[in-house]
Amino acid sequence: MFSPKATQPAICALALCTAVLLMELLTATPSPAAMVPTRPATPTGCATNIFRLAIDAHPDWGVVPFETVLRVSLRSTTDSLESVWWDFESDGAFDAAGREVTHTFDQPVDYVVTATVRTTQRGEIELASTVGGFVAVMSLTFDDGCASVHAHAMPLLEARDVTATAYIVPTWVRHSGASYMSWDGIGELSDLGWDIGSHTMTHVSLEGVDDSTLHYELYESRKELRAHGFDGVSFSLPHGEYDQHALDAVKTCYESCRAVGNALNPPVEFADPYILLSKTSQPWIQLETYKADVDSVASYGGWYILNNHRVWGNCYDCGWCITTQTLADLLDYALASRLKVANVREVLGYRDAAEENSRMPDGPGEHEDEDEAPPGNVVWTHSNPLSLPGRIEFRLPSPAPAEARIYDCAGRHVKSLECGAAARSVHEVFWDGRNTEGEPVASGAYYCVITAGAETHSSGPILVLR
Ligand SMILES: [Zn+2]
Repeated sequence: MFSPKATQPAICALALCTAVLLMELLTATPSPAAMVPTRPATPTGCATNIFRLAIDAHPDWGVVPFETVLRVSLRSTTDSLESVWWDFESDGAFDAAGREVTHTFDQPVDYVVTATVRTTQRGEIELASTVGGFVAVMSLTFDDGCASVHAHAMPLLEARDVTATAYIVPTWVRHSGASYMSWDGIGELSDLGWDIGSHTMTHVSLEGVDDSTLHYELYESRKELRAHGFDGVSFSLPHGEYDQHALDAVKTCYESCRAVGNALNPPVEFADPYILLSKTSQPWIQLETYKADVDSVASYGGWYILNNHRVWGNCYDCGWCITTQTLADLLDYALASRLKVANVREVLGYRDAAEENSRMPDGPGEHEDEDEAPPGNVVWTHSNPLSLPGRIEFRLPSPAPAEARIYDCAGRHVKSLECGAAARSVHEVFWDGRNTEGEPVASGAYYCVITAGAETHSSGPILVLR
């Protein structure tokens, strides 16, 4: 078997658009305790709102004696959704093994899904199990606190019942004039549910700055946001610039850090909250380009963060703006494409809720202590983002020969890496950031999947930034 932690990204990498939920249903001679299926070992990643349920028979079952039907439903616990039932016809005996069902919800499902199995013969026994089902997500962010965000973006988003994250530069608010939002204007955004974050005190680059500057730019800006009634847990980097020292300081003050990178994020459960990749809107970018990013995350699950500055009816050759029409069309397209549109704080909040849920007690015989590393755990060592050419080390629980392959987040094989045939505990591979054709890969999240003996393990997301 795969180890639970190791399998999670492997499923993301390998299962493409389907989320596979493996369930143990019933034992041959059920007792009340035995009727509760164990929680699936892994949350399922890379899913949109398409779920595939694979019924994995317990070896002891043989033929499950359902009298009439086996009923299965999936529903989100964070959104109210239709409850879907599949009825498996049976006339006295029913072999559950190998049955599969697929269902596309009418609307995006959220992050926690409950699967329920009922049998009519046994008096509607309900067997619940929980998995993470991560949807494709889009977040709009607005840097600098431009007045046009209040004037044009706010009503546009409100009409579509979505919110965004606004990163504020407090000294620019104080000396606002007409160009930047007032505290009252920011308050209106907040009242509508917007996430109000910091973009430093003075919009200075955080690369190579000293501790007192970091303190002023990071700590004082959050303090000022709080003084005006905003929690300010989200942060974005001016100019997208930082070094490790600055990033460490950001982590002490904020819950997330939005960077640039001109790339899409991996699915939410794999995104690094302190290196949230984003794309930046510009007046010369066509709507079709934005739509392509929506299509990309809609197809395999992912998190598209589009950062904006000014929002005007007409963008002349100003740079750093998007037209209200383009923004409206993009939002409508994203919603029609079943993306979940939510602000950064909300998205990370959903993730935390899903992680909390995944800590629910396991069924009998499962590990109760999640902190204890499961046997067979593989320890990964690599820089993140990976500095190219990059070294990826993995330590196996026992010496074995290993094979290593790189996959992109959509599960496409990118390249096989030379590992050596020797049976060792510690292996290292080098990846030059190129695919099998020798072309440089795009910025984004990649996974290293190894096979050692009979086991397969996957790294967490390895970011490549160009
Ligand atoms: Zn800025």
